[in-house]
Formats: sequence, C-alpha cells, structure tokens
Amino acid sequence: ITNAVHEAGGKIAMQILHAGRYGVHDKCVSASAIQAPINIYTPRALSVEEIQNTIQDFVNCARRAEEAGYDGIEIMGSEGYFLHQFIAPRTNKREDEYGGTFENRMRLPLEIIAAIREVVSEKFMLIYRISVVDLVEEGSSKEEVIQFAKALETAGVHLLNTGIGWHEARIPTISMRVPRGSFVWAAELLKQHVSIPVSATNRINTPELAEEIISAGKADAVSMARPLLADPHFVLKAKNNQSNLINTCVGCNQACLDQIFSGEIASCLVNPFAARELTMQLLPSTYKKKIAVVGAGVAGLTAALVLAQRGNEVEVFEQQESLGGQLRLAAQVPGKEEFFETIRYYSEQLKHFGVKIHLNTSFELKNFQDGNFEELVWATGVVPSEYAWEENDGSLPVLNYVEAIQKNASLGNEVVVLGAGGIAMDVASLLTQTTETKEEYSSHWGIDVQLEHRGALQEKQERTPFRKVSILQRSNKKLGNKLGKTTVWSHRTELQQLGVGVYNGSTGLKILGGELLFNSNGIDYVLQPNAIVLCLGQRSAQTDVLTFVEAGIPLHVLGGAHDTNGLDARKVIREATEW
Ligand code: SF4
Repeated sequence: ITNAVHEAGGKIAMQILHAGRYGVHDKCVSASAIQAPINIYTPRALSVEEIQNTIQDFVNCARRAEEAGYDGIEIMGSEGYFLHQFIAPRTNKREDEYGGTFENRMRLPLEIIAAIREVVSEKFMLIYRISVVDLVEEGSSKEEVIQFAKALETAGVHLLNTGIGWHEARIPTISMRVPRGSFVWAAELLKQHVSIPVSATNRINTPELAEEIISAGKADAVSMARPLLADPHFVLKAKNNQSNLINTCVGCNQACLDQIFSGEIASCLVNPFAARELTMQLLPSTYKKKIAVVGAGVAGLTAALVLAQRGNEVEVFEQQESLGGQLRLAAQVPGKEEFFETIRYYSEQLKHFGVKIHLNTSFELKNFQDGNFEELVWATGVVPSEYAWEENDGSLPVLNYVEAIQKNASLGNEVVVLGAGGIAMDVASLLTQTTETKEEYSSHWGIDVQLEHRGALQEKQERTPFRKVSILQRSNKKLGNKLGKTTVWSHRTELQQLGVGVYNGSTGLKILGGELLFNSNGIDYVLQPNAIVLCLGQRSAQTDVLTFVEAGIPLHVLGGAHDTNGLDARKVIREATEW
C-alpha cells in the first residue's frame, strides 16, 4: 500500500486506534470499568502494568508502520476512544498516577508519544487527533484542551488533527443535517495556542470549502475521510480545477458507517465502487451500442453514466423540466440539500461524457425508431402509493408527499402525515422548519462554541416550528425503525424538538365533516388538520413500458420502476451501476 501511494506521489500516515471501551467484545479495557452507553460490554480497568504494556504496543505499532514505509502515524486520541477515555473525567475515575488531576489523566498519551519518539526517525510524522469538543457530560474543559495541545507540541507532535464529539454524544456531528464546516471554529481556537499546524475536520466536503478555511487562516490543513470514499479522485480533480466533476459526499452515512454497524463492509451511497475496487470495475463495453435511457431520476442518471463511461452512445429522455427525480424532491428537505450536489455531479459527468439529455420529453416508440437506438433502459421511477380510507367524505385535502413538498407554503397551520418511514420523517421536517445555519445548528443542539462549559455543552435553544404536525403510523415501533442507526436518532430528536406528535398503532382512519377520526392503541382521537399528507411508500411507474415489450425492443427496467422493495438511493445507485 505504501509503495503504491509513494509511486503516485503521495504521502501516507497510518492511524493507530485503540477502541478501549468502544471495543465490541467482552475483553474490552479502559481507564475505569464504566460501560459505554453504545456498547453492550463493560470494560475492565487496566492495571498499571497493563498500561505499560499498552504503551509498548503503541510503540511497536509505530515502529512497524515506519518499517512498512508509512511516512507517519496519527494517534487517535479523540471521539471517545481509549486515550480519550484516560483524558476525560467522564471515564477516568482512577486514583493512581493515571487518574485524578489533569496532569495524571494526560500522562498516558504523553508517555506514548515520548516512547514512540525514541524509536522512530526524526522525519517520521507524528499526528495526534485531539478532541477539542467532547459534547458529553464530564468531558474536557477549554483550559484542559489547550494545556494538552501545548503538552503534545512539547512532546514532539508535528500536527494536531481536531476531533469532534464522542461517538456516544447525542448531538449529530457528521451527518448531512450538520451544516458544512460547523466545527472549523475548534481548529481556529486550537491554532491560537500552538505553533504546530492544526487540521480542521467534520463536514468539509468540497475543495472550495477547504480552500476557504485554509486561505482565511482558520486552519493549516483539512482532514477528510468520507469525501474520498465518495470520490477517490477528489484531490486530483481539485488540483486540475475540475471540482464540478467531483462526486460529493452527501453525509448520509448510509453505505459507510451504517453498513459497518450492520456487519457489512463500508462502501459509499454515491459511489458503489468504494471498497469493491478489485471486484467491480468499469471496463469498456465489448459491443458499443446506441442506448436510450428513459427517466432522469437517480436510476436513469446512474445507468446513463455507467453506459457512457463504458463507451456507449447514450441519450436520456425525461418528462420533467429538470434532472434528479426523487433526489431533487429529497434535496428540498432541510438538511438534505447535499443531494443537489449529486444531481450536479450527474449533470456535469453526463455532459463530460457527451450524453445528450432531452428534458420535457415523453419517450415513445417513434423516438426509439427515429433515434436508431439499439437498446432501451426504462427507469421511470415511482409514483406515491394511495391510501384505502375506512371512510372519506372528501372534506379535508389529502395530498401525496410529492404534492406536499411542492405546496408546502400553502398547507395551513396544522398538518397530519400518514406513514412511518424516511419519507414521513422528511416531510414532517420540511413542514416544520427551514434549513439551519451553522449558528442555529449549534444553538439548537446546545453546542457551546465558546467552549466555556466542560464538554462544550450548554442549554439547547428551543426550535419554533412553522406549524403543528402530527405523524400517524400503524406500527407501534419507533418512528423510522428501518432507517440507518447512525442518523435516525438525531432525526427523531429533531422532530420531537419541533413538537411533532406521533400516534402509534393508528387504525380506522376516517375523514368526516372536516375532521380526521382514528384510534391509536385503543384511544379514539379527533383532529382538525388543514391537510393530510400520505407518505405510505411508492409503486413502480412502468405503465407505458408494455408498448416497447410488445415491439420486441431489448429492454432493461431499473430502479423503482423495477422494484420498490426497500427502495432508497443507496439501493438504486448500486443496482443501476451493477446491472
Ligand atoms: Fe458520504 Fe454517504 Fe458515501 Fe458515506 S455513504 S461516504 S456519508 S456519501
């Protein structure tokens, strides 16, 4: 690996990460025997002798990294991992020389650095990922963070990378709901107190933002992880002034972190090739063809791009006036605007590969024959499902989620949403709030950007919803129980803060005389909403396809038009890439 990176002109550092009490096994260890709220196992407190052995393990790891050709190491000391567990009073209740005073709590990482310095060469880079913002009770104070940063510099660390939030923190720090660059202030703060370079992190996903941070002197470098899963050529494209061609990480966590937490290999929603580079490759098509793609939603756009990249002549036909389909709808939800980047990526890439796009055009047999196409990709997507009311006298407006997104402003003061999944939650978000600024995000989640309180926590500022929204779901499970583990909790918290009420076990829904009547787990309710929005899933939109089947045209049906089971952007992009 190191040879490959060096041959390509890069430098590479290896991260040394000891998970401590986040280790998901019954032998996990920590400073003290305190179970993490996100682990089922309680750690064992290390003895002083075991701490000495652990220091040696770090040293061996660093030495081997240098022998293996790495240019440096990054020691993971943030995010609530092992070394962080020694630093913070939250997890360090020791009474020996590794606990109690701050000098004692920071002893272990400093001893590790000193011992590593003894065995590696002078030019070997030592990076330390230091937590500036803990976002948990009993985290570090500002004075401790600064004292520790200075001690790390004195110990010989070359660069400080800023870490944000423990993994167990109940504040989102990396998801798409977090405004870009929300934690640059942490690097800026640290920079005032040390003379070594400081790197900014979290939700920095474009070269333009990185440039803005560095040129404004807020940080000396930026760190990115997920953006390089989304586009391994990120750096090269930035260097060549082709940032319009970058596949931008949207911060969804769906195919990287969520897959890890469900025991799968990390990949990427917008780039299904990530982590499958050896088994999934884009090879030139053996027989290059002229292909029409019908539908410019995510399935059609992905298929068109893959076909064009493989050397086929491709034209896309879309009934609507713009590209994106469901993705464009999703991008209108506050906190999901990053999907506009995905649409921009497809649009620019298709242009780059010479794909012709016909907007406002329905595709008919005549188009196929006139265009001399040889094959057809049918990716017309989905239409919202309807609802079978027990009774409905038509006295209340009922809209599907597409109509509700388009008519948001005119829906009145009280709206009821039917559904339990991601669309229902997104629509409830859209109906109650607008996109947050960085400042609003920090104050709504109680982040103390002055770092005056330990752990950077302060009272949350209340959110004021536009209107009253209630969600009715048939199930008794938690809202969005099939959504990704790493983000759904923050979405639920946000809706709660916005006063969105949830009626579980809702049955017997009737609209009569301008009222909505239903039973929720044995209790009868009557609501008088101004509108009702159906978010009950989708069915395939493929009615017109039969004409082409009957004409014997070679045809491939993809995306939601093919199958709506478990439909989401991750599934669609992957399937439309792999078919
Ligand atoms: Fe980014 Fe989502 Fe890809 Fe993860 S899966 S790297 S968050 S776009």
